[in-house]
Amino acid sequence: MLGPVILAASRSDRMRRLISAAPVTKQVVDRFIPGETVADIVPIIEELTAKGLELTMDVVGEDITTPEQATAARDAYLTLIDHLRELELGEKVEMSVKLSMFGQALPGGHELALANVRPVVEAAAAIGTTVTLDAEDHTTLDSMFAIHEELRKDFPQTGCVIQAYLFRTEADARRLAASGSRVRLVKGAYKEPAEVAYQQKHEIDKAYVRILRILMDGEGYPMIGSHDPRLIAIAQELAHQAGRKLGEYEFQMLYGIRGDEHLRLAAEGHRMRVYTAYGTDWYGYFMRRLAEKPANLRFFLRSMVSKG
Ligand SMILES: Cc1cc2nc3c(=O)[nH]c(=O)nc-3n(C[C@H](O)[C@H](O)[C@H](O)COP(=O)(O)OP(=O)(O)OC[C@H]3O[C@@H](n4cnc5c(N)ncnc54)[C@H](O)[C@@H]3O)c2cc1C
Repeated sequence: MLGPVILAASRSDRMRRLISAAPVTKQVVDRFIPGETVADIVPIIEELTAKGLELTMDVVGEDITTPEQATAARDAYLTLIDHLRELELGEKVEMSVKLSMFGQALPGGHELALANVRPVVEAAAAIGTTVTLDAEDHTTLDSMFAIHEELRKDFPQTGCVIQAYLFRTEADARRLAASGSRVRLVKGAYKEPAEVAYQQKHEIDKAYVRILRILMDGEGYPMIGSHDPRLIAIAQELAHQAGRKLGEYEFQMLYGIRGDEHLRLAAEGHRMRVYTAYGTDWYGYFMRRLAEKPANLRFFLRSMVSKG
């Protein structure tokens, strides 16, 4: 029950100011967002890849309000790619982007977001890696899928994310699986109304399994974005049933969540990619992590009380 309340509260400017200014916030934020600059993040990329993990990098930020901010977002990714070129890690480190940060919600936003994300996809391809388009709230998805399709004409490895909680997602999964796309399946992290999304955990989990079967049986490359031990076991079974070998699908988890499981899956020979967020505009990302697990919120509130 707490999750939707936190997600709703996270849209309030007052809450943003309060949380961002709290002295203890930084320590809790660091668990999920381990750096603010490229210089902070390069040693983390080196450390995780040395352990056999792969990464998808997210420069945090969303819901921007000016075209200049969208350009700055594009440039932040291009700077990251410049650093990755020197590390020569190829597809071991890819990028995840939120189109809202590239201007999608501004006037003319669809074209603006496409124009801003294309150079990032091109630069990623030039260093042998790719980009995955994150899924945001349901009102943004038609535009996201259209941009994904457009980018795939020149860069077929471009991936996208689908969310098991949305009723529309089985149909999206069929289309993407038939077209051979890279697709990350997640449960979904936004507050969505009952007209468009399952609300109960067991319904979302059942939908996740149905959609995962479609992806595993299809022509594309499934990326299982979940920390849920039951779904991870089911994914292995579905991959086996579909005749997929190791490397023909991958697991993905968030930095700071179930780190031992990252290493266990990698040690078993699975491709295991860690979604690693960094940057200064961490508020939206951080609030979704609090909403996913009430214990995170309790820990955060306790820290505020004891230190405050
Ligand atoms: C790689 C990756 C990329 C993602 N990209 C998107 C995206 O583009 N769009 C989108 O809407 N959502 C995205 N998400 C978030 C996703 O939708 C879920 O909100 C999130 O993954 C929690 O769901 P779960 O599958 O881990 O299962 P849950 O049932 O929520 O969690 C299973 C277990 O994992 C652990 N866990 C889960 N979340 C947390 C947490 N925050 N803190 C501590 N422990 C936790 C707990 O032990 C929990 O019991 C992404 C998730 C991952 C892993």
